[in-house]
Amino acid sequence: MPPKTIIEPFRIKVVEPIRMTTRDERLALLKDAGYNTFHLRSRDVILDLLTDSGTSAMSAEQWAGIMRGDEAYAGSPSYYRFEDAVKEVFGFEQVIPTHQGRAAERILFETMCSEGDIVPSNTHFDTTRANVEAVGARAVDLLVPEGRRHQEVHPFKGNLDTGRLRELIREEGAERIPLVMLTLTNNSGGGQPVSMANIRQVSEICREHGIPLYMDACRFAENAYMIRLREEGYAERPVAEIAREIFSHAQGCTMSAKKDGLANIGGFVATNDPELARRQRNVLILTEGFPTYGGLAGRDLEAIAIGLREVLEEDYLEYRLASVRYLGEAIAEAGVPIVQPPGGHAVYIDAAAFLPHVPPLELPGQTVVAELYLEGGIRCVEVGTVMFGRRDPETGEEHPAPMELVRLALPRRVYTQSHVDFMVEAIVAFGERKDSVGGYRFTYQEPVLRHFTARFEPLYEVAG
Ligand SMILES: *Cc1c(COP(=O)(O)O)cnc(C)c1O
Repeated sequence: MPPKTIIEPFRIKVVEPIRMTTRDERLALLKDAGYNTFHLRSRDVILDLLTDSGTSAMSAEQWAGIMRGDEAYAGSPSYYRFEDAVKEVFGFEQVIPTHQGRAAERILFETMCSEGDIVPSNTHFDTTRANVEAVGARAVDLLVPEGRRHQEVHPFKGNLDTGRLRELIREEGAERIPLVMLTLTNNSGGGQPVSMANIRQVSEICREHGIPLYMDACRFAENAYMIRLREEGYAERPVAEIAREIFSHAQGCTMSAKKDGLANIGGFVATNDPELARRQRNVLILTEGFPTYGGLAGRDLEAIAIGLREVLEEDYLEYRLASVRYLGEAIAEAGVPIVQPPGGHAVYIDAAAFLPHVPPLELPGQTVVAELYLEGGIRCVEVGTVMFGRRDPETGEEHPAPMELVRLALPRRVYTQSHVDFMVEAIVAFGERKDSVGGYRFTYQEPVLRHFTARFEPLYEVAG
């Protein structure tokens, strides 16, 4: 029998040393950081699971592309290689580079939406929602109900509820909906995928009403691979072909190349509508740069062009999803409640279920984040009351978020199997003494996006 272990389909050519720290050192660092891991320096982190955005390891080919990058202001060959890659992978005619995903979003909504419009989505990512709202439109999330039930296993928990989309169109009128969006995969909802059947249905509804469909394509390759694994009729289809089929149902997309572009910066907006693209290029010139670089260096365009093709390699995707699944299944088996099934880019611990003795207003997710740093130097992020709760500005009263999650996001091609085993051991070790911990309270917070800058104080004796 051939070996069955799914290995990292790459060798290591350059290494970045990890600085090991002791628990006592970490306790002192964490105290200095006000128990907020956003205030830590990354050199004090052993395994950094804060985000999968812009943290990918580039390949030898991408680094070669960096050297080839041509920095001409206009008409650089690097731009044309980038444009060719986007056309080949996504199939859209008009390609507009931006410095990252949110710049693509801003250009899309500024040129498509007016005040009072409505933009439905399965779930808007926070920068997407903010950019819809910035032009005076309303961002509406229409996720299927199983997408909100953490423990329930369902293959496509990122699907959009088509019944509610029809209802919304009937109630509000198609003329108030300039576009519908689908986020692939659903980052704010546990990294869960959207099925091809759902994409097809949403696009049919859109076509019936003359509404264009756009994709938030950040993790399109992970979504395409999950369609291949989970949806009938796709098991034998090449992932690149599945990706093309996904985008054949849309009129365009926005993309952050910091995710499935396997690059450290960049993004784009793409469309099949030349008149819209003309207006978008005018906005681009005003804020990002000339249309053949759009806020990026020529070398970045090269890295993205190569990354967009590498991300569709099936050995890579098999390894990628296997390592996320391995982490999720190993901690779930040890009794740690997670959002099921594990997502494409991250595992989400359900902190409310994990620490039932810590009430939401004592920030159970923050406890998990602080304790995993102490336990193994692991940095992750709370997605609960710290991030989405609200403090009443008049009364000072705190309101909890609807969920208390902790996201463990895996950077692409960065960590090996033994790193993942280390994560599992640290999480399980914390799980064994979780009854001895308590919650946290804010000692400092800003009125907006408080999770980045907040400081905390433990409500229990933190063990050194
Ligand atoms: C990261 C992300 C964005 C924004 O991209 P940036 O490059 O961070 O600006 C938009 N949508 C989703 C789903 C994302 O994950």
